[in-house]
Amino acid sequence: MKPLADTLNEIIAHDGPITVERYMSLCLRHYYATRDPLGAAGDFTTAPEISQMFGELIGLWMMEIWHAMGRPAPCRLVELGPGRGSLMADLLRATRVLPDFKAAATVHLVETSPALRQRQQAALASSGFALEWHDRLEDVPPGPTLLVANEFFDALPVRQFLATERGWCERLVGIDGDRLIFGLRPEAEQGLGNPLRPGDVLEWPAASIEVMGELTRRLERDRGAALILDYGYWGPAYGDTLQALRQHAFVDPLAEPGEADLTTHVDFHRLTQAAIAGGTQAHGIGLQGDFLKALGIEARAAALKARATPAQATDIEKALARLTERGPTGMGELFKVLAVTDRAIEAVPGLPALSTSSQD
Ligand code: SAH
Repeated sequence: MKPLADTLNEIIAHDGPITVERYMSLCLRHYYATRDPLGAAGDFTTAPEISQMFGELIGLWMMEIWHAMGRPAPCRLVELGPGRGSLMADLLRATRVLPDFKAAATVHLVETSPALRQRQQAALASSGFALEWHDRLEDVPPGPTLLVANEFFDALPVRQFLATERGWCERLVGIDGDRLIFGLRPEAEQGLGNPLRPGDVLEWPAASIEVMGELTRRLERDRGAALILDYGYWGPAYGDTLQALRQHAFVDPLAEPGEADLTTHVDFHRLTQAAIAGGTQAHGIGLQGDFLKALGIEARAAALKARATPAQATDIEKALARLTERGPTGMGELFKVLAVTDRAIEAVPGLPALSTSSQD
């Protein structure tokens, strides 16, 4: 395949500088289509790759809600961006205790990368569940829905605007000689309010808001619940969170287009606003560590350790610590959890219902 840098040069030479959103979109499509980015040999590691406990506990969460909903059949079990399929494999294994659930559930994997679809197929073929792949959430057949998205929203493109004396100007990617550089659209964007401090960056996650819109329409129409876990914050905040990771190290986001993972931090406030605007109920947000503890990760680790070799027991301890750890670099605190449900579901395990007034 032609290097993406060449394609970008042609596009920019022809169209002029492109938005950060289009740049991210082109890079991410190329990046995910051409590799399995996960794990020690890849660029980054995610919670389901650290331990089976993560997917198992989410499976228990799903089953509890399925019960509370009156055990609907069929039930669409959906994952957005399933990576290697590890979360779904662990989740499905945990639901084995409920044969009725297996009979009711059809599994829907929303994944654009052909390379990762193959990995998912290999991970899930022996699960015994009916499996279907889709490019978009819209393509999942109607029906009561239980959905999970781990590290999916951070992989969607955002627009970026820089505060200037003229107002919010959109950040662009152009060419200088043979390198890509950031630039600015000269005219200010209207409708974003007045910038407070020059230099602030506003990120507008149009793609995430669109997915949330589709999700809330589905939950309102067909009933159900969605669990969203990601690296993020409760906004509004004004900073540039675009980052590129290659082989577990940060690199310049413009240096190796399509060869490094590009992400931004998820603004959970905006996602929640989109969920509430769509008429659904939001729960959370919680810290991943607190959420997993409320679901019983410590007891699950103890049960696994009881049957483990000493070396395995050490690994289980390490995984437990890594998933739940507090502090500025701990996954237990950096990762947040938001649940979105139809309004008939008043409570979900591990997260408080969010009152509408607390999220203005
Ligand atoms: N959830 C997995 C993988 C996270 S990586 C885990 O926790 O390990 C992001 C995943 O989202 C990959 O599977 C990637 O191919 C997929 N993805 C990225 N953009 C997407 C899009 N626009 N539509 C569907 N899937 C997408």
